[in-house]
Amino acid sequence: MSGGVRVGIVGAGLGGVAAAGLLQRQGFDVTLYDQAPGFSRLGAGIQFGPNVLKILAHLDGLDRKLAEISCLPDYWVSRNGTDGAVLAKIPLNAERERYGAPYITIHRGDLHQAMLDCIEPDRIKWGHKLVDFTDNGKSVSLEFENGLTDTVDILVAADGINSRVREKIFGLEEALYTGWIAHRAIIPGAAAKALGADVNAKWWTADRHIVCYYLDRKEEEFYLVTGEPAEWTSRAGQLPSTREEFKAAFADYHPMVQGYIDAAETVTKWPLKTREPLSKWHEGRVVLLGDSCHPMKPHMAQGAAMAVEDAAVLTRCLSELGVADLEGTFEAYYRARKERATKVQTISNANTWLRQPEDPYWCYGDSVYDLKLTS
Ligand SMILES: Cc1cc2nc3c(=O)[nH]c(=O)nc-3n(C[C@H](O)[C@H](O)[C@H](O)COP(=O)(O)OP(=O)(O)OC[C@H]3O[C@@H](n4cnc5c(N)ncnc54)[C@H](O)[C@@H]3O)c2cc1C
Repeated sequence: MSGGVRVGIVGAGLGGVAAAGLLQRQGFDVTLYDQAPGFSRLGAGIQFGPNVLKILAHLDGLDRKLAEISCLPDYWVSRNGTDGAVLAKIPLNAERERYGAPYITIHRGDLHQAMLDCIEPDRIKWGHKLVDFTDNGKSVSLEFENGLTDTVDILVAADGINSRVREKIFGLEEALYTGWIAHRAIIPGAAAKALGADVNAKWWTADRHIVCYYLDRKEEEFYLVTGEPAEWTSRAGQLPSTREEFKAAFADYHPMVQGYIDAAETVTKWPLKTREPLSKWHEGRVVLLGDSCHPMKPHMAQGAAMAVEDAAVLTRCLSELGVADLEGTFEAYYRARKERATKVQTISNANTWLRQPEDPYWCYGDSVYDLKLTS
């Protein structure tokens, strides 16, 4: 059913790469396009829960490869930002069997590279910024800024929060600045260890927080990422910051947190943006996934996870329900994903996840392969 069906995926972020790898393995003729000139190793960390690792198992055992190189925290610890009192201690790998897969924390560049390695390299076209597309009902023609064109049977938009595809289908609307930024820095693991760091912790006060975790199995790198109110007037996706600016924002925090920030050499800051949920994720031969259709504040550490879950459910819909009735197949995908993605988006934006004791099983224990798809 899938043989010969040409799928163009715009955006080689974590969602697009997952979709490419999964669709290729179902026999689709996949091409992945990205505006970037090539792979770049973003200096940041990422957490991937068991719900995602279950999907990565379908990329030739990528779950096992990642579990070998990443940090595997047993617990998530929530702490009061000023006095360090424990607010909650939630099992992660301590309940790995129950969730059905490991919970990993890893350098985002290492994760992205490992996922890209699961795709045939000649199917990735870097330096291809999509500027326009036309769906004539039988195929979709793509136009890129470099002057090149292509034609596909299905277009998957995985082009992130400022999606060109979303803009063309639903109209131009700026993403909403939430009034919050994230400071990010990576410090030596030894510095964190000397201060007595938890393996994975979030320190909270009323209007801000800092999340801290190791990025690798040897605990050589330790990652700091915050959420805090701030002005943002730039159009840039990130700006350089300083240790002093970072420290000033957490001046009343516990000495351990102050010590982490003191060890930061390079600090960046990122605006946190979101959008209202969409009532539709597809039109004609075009379908959206990930941040292009449900961006969120990152406070559940599940934004990329939702993009990968979308990719897996979309792959199941296309291969199990077929491409003869694309409207029906895409509608089934939307129905299967909408409620969960919106729930995660809502909790993530509210920044309440795991602050107090709660059971995260509904999120981490879930498997997209247990979903019953209905056409
Ligand atoms: C501070 C912070 C921390 C986070 N931590 C986590 C975490 O721990 N766990 C988690 O699951 N999520 C986390 N997230 C969320 C996560 O980063 C996003 O949800 C995820 O990256 C979305 O993936 P995506 O593939 O949909 O889009 P993106 O990652 O944004 O990828 C979009 C891709 O499309 C390309 N592109 C854009 N426009 C075009 C075009 N016109 N033509 C061609 N290519 C184009 C871009 O170059 C890019 O490669 C965090 C986010 C932030 C800001």
